[in-house]
Amino acid sequence: MSAITGTSTETETEFAPGSVALVGGGPGAADLLTVRALRLLRQADVVYFDRLAPTEDLAVWAPRARLEDVGKRPGHHKVPQPEINRLLVASALAGLRVVRLKGGDPFVFGRGSEEAAACEQAGVPVTVVPGITSAVSVPAAAGIPVTARGISKSFTVVSGHDPLSEEELAGLAQLGRQGGTVVVLMGIGTLGHTAAGLMRHGLDARTPAGLVERGCTPQQRVCLAPVDQILLASAVEGIASPAVLVIGEVVRLAAGAELPWSGLTGLAGLTGLTDLVDNA
Ligand code: SAH
Repeated sequence: MSAITGTSTETETEFAPGSVALVGGGPGAADLLTVRALRLLRQADVVYFDRLAPTEDLAVWAPRARLEDVGKRPGHHKVPQPEINRLLVASALAGLRVVRLKGGDPFVFGRGSEEAAACEQAGVPVTVVPGITSAVSVPAAAGIPVTARGISKSFTVVSGHDPLSEEELAGLAQLGRQGGTVVVLMGIGTLGHTAAGLMRHGLDARTPAGLVERGCTPQQRVCLAPVDQILLASAVEGIASPAVLVIGEVVRLAAGAELPWSGLTGLAGLTGLTDLVDNA
C-alpha cells in the first residue's frame, strides 16, 4: 500500500539540482502559498520572482537562495521574457535548483507555458506547482463568488491587457446575458472599452460590476457599480492595477446584499462619491 511503503509527500517534492520549478505564489498573501511551494523554496538556490508574487517573506522561505527580481518595478524595466527564459535555463544547467516564483497560478496569463517550453527544449527538467489564481481568489476576498447556485453556473476569465475584439465582446456579452460571470484580469487600462463593448453587444447596463484592487492583501479596495458606471466609479476611487474586474449578478453578493448604488442612477449611484463629497 502506498500509504505505508510509498513515498512521503516530502520525498515527492524533493528538488533535484539542475531543475526548474515554476511555482504559483497565489494572489499576494503569504499564507496563500501552497505547502509544496514552500518546500521547494526552502531548497532553492536561486529564485526569480515577479512583481505580483508574495515576496515579503521570501528571504525566510528561501533562506539558501539568491533572490532575483525580474518583475516590473517603478522606474525599472521588466526583464524581457526571452531573457528570463535564458536565465532559468542557464541557472539550471549550472546545477542550481531554480524556482521561478509567479503571482497566482503560473499557467493563468503568467507565460508559464513559454518558460516550461524553454526548459524542455534545453533538456532541463521542469515541474509546475499550481498556485491560487487571482481570477477566483480575489473576487472571493471581496465576498464575490464567481459561481452561485441559481445565479451563475459559469465563469469566463479573459485578459484585458489588449482591447477585446468585437467578436470577443459579443461572445462575452452573450455569456453575461445567459447569467455567466465574466472575470477580467489586467483590465484596468481597457475598462472603458470593455464595459462599453459589452453593453453595445446587449449586456444590460444595470448588470453589477466590481473591481477588486490588491485583493487578499491589507491594501485591498473594492469598487462596485453597474457596468454603465464602473469606469466613472473606478476613476472617482482611483482604482489602479493590479485589480480584478468581475461582471455579473454574483457581484450583488459582495459585502452585504445591498450595493451602495442600488436603486440610484447617475452620479449619485457611485460608490465612493459620498466620501468624496463629504471630504470636499
Ligand atoms: N497568474 C496570475 C495572473 C497574472 S496577470 C494569476 O493566476 O492570478 C496579472 C493580473 O492578475 C493583474 O493585472 C490583475 O488583474 C490580477 N491580479 C493578480 N494578483 C492580484 C491581486 N492580489 N489583486 C487584484 N488583482 C490581481
